[in-house]
Amino acid sequence: MALTGLEIYKLLPKTNCKECGFPTCLAFAMKLAQKGAELEKCPYVSDEAKAALDAASAPPIRLIAVGSGERTFAVGNEVALFRHEKTFYHQPGLMLRVKSDDAQLAEVVSRAADYQVERVGMTLRLDGVAVEDAGGGPAAYAAAVAAARAAAPGLPLVLMSGDPAALDAALAAGAAAERPLLHAATAANWQAMAELAKKHGCPLVLQAEDGDLSALAELSAQVRGAGLEDLVLDPGTDSLGADLGAFTQLRRLALKKGARALGYPIFARASAPTWQAELVRAAQAVCKYAGVIVIDHFERAAVYALLTLRQNIYTDPQKPIQVEPRLYEIGSPGPDSPILITTNFSLTYFSVSGEVEGAGMPAWLLVADSDGQSVLTGWAAGKFDAEKIAKTVKGTGVADHVNHRKLVIPGHVAGLSGEVEEELPGWQIMVGPREAVDIPSYLKTIWSA
Ligand code: SF4
Repeated sequence: MALTGLEIYKLLPKTNCKECGFPTCLAFAMKLAQKGAELEKCPYVSDEAKAALDAASAPPIRLIAVGSGERTFAVGNEVALFRHEKTFYHQPGLMLRVKSDDAQLAEVVSRAADYQVERVGMTLRLDGVAVEDAGGGPAAYAAAVAAARAAAPGLPLVLMSGDPAALDAALAAGAAAERPLLHAATAANWQAMAELAKKHGCPLVLQAEDGDLSALAELSAQVRGAGLEDLVLDPGTDSLGADLGAFTQLRRLALKKGARALGYPIFARASAPTWQAELVRAAQAVCKYAGVIVIDHFERAAVYALLTLRQNIYTDPQKPIQVEPRLYEIGSPGPDSPILITTNFSLTYFSVSGEVEGAGMPAWLLVADSDGQSVLTGWAAGKFDAEKIAKTVKGTGVADHVNHRKLVIPGHVAGLSGEVEEELPGWQIMVGPREAVDIPSYLKTIWSA
């Protein structure tokens, strides 16, 4: 937890020698608390004070990377309990679990690796697979992990086994190079697991039972004492309610109480007998507060819903996803093609451009800079008004591409048509539909009439 200026002051030499460039130690301490100065500027800080200040400036939830290649993902480093306080930064990794004795293992892994969907201009996909040891000994497990790696080279992995020898065999056979997440160290096996994680340089999941957070904190202290810092916490809960209680407490303890032993990302096993129940559990884990989520069902509808939810939760509400404001060509528009205008909020742009494309009529789509706000919000905030519309028309030079002077504005800002006509003399302002979904019929009927 961050220290206040006075708490930092107590750790300084209090000689007011000014060598740090500040008139007093107190002034320097205040600046440090605001992160406006470097501790190194004071040559007289004791090692104890340095250690205390370093620990206090460490992020409350450690950032942990899983994987080693292009698809590596990092989780943790979160600073807020609620998304409206500040953004959530590192979206949870979604991993599909396969059993090591699954005859379809390679096929399932490559299907998971290849699955992707486009939404508002971004590619959404699963982050990796978790290979669970189904028994059969170290050699069998190592072979299964090798098969998973061959099916999807470079895809991040979670290696799940209670047998350190099985994990060691898989890691020694080459998996270590991909820096998989190891699941899991328990009170019974933590020494061997910690050794293994250290030997292969991999992050390690610590697992408690039935949401026992005291046991988890104790286990964390032991493993950290053995020199490991890249940890992930699995409270061992097995229901929606228990997940919510344990995950919320973990986040609170890390952020509000500065509980270092619990300042790590959370591992959520969302397994449930049906994909519908699993979807609910995983969705809750996306919102509160998982760093890695393992699912069992590869049901496209559920995976798509989870990826969409995750994208929404991890988009900063104060910085909406935007597209570049400019003139877009939909199809191959010509001089007679319609001109429509909308805002640069990503969801708005993709809805409008998708419907225009679907209408099968090439068109010019003008995208005004509304600071990423939708049509109505932009209008209410004065970011999408007659002046902005006129400026966009003139600035993009769209008139040079067409032999007409007709502009379709969104139905939601129909009231602006008179003002736009004043701003754009010689132009006919047409009021389009309020909803993007009605654009195809509008173009076929009103525009073509
Ligand atoms: Fe105080 Fe250190 Fe600055 Fe000197 S250099 S005034 S001891 S903080």
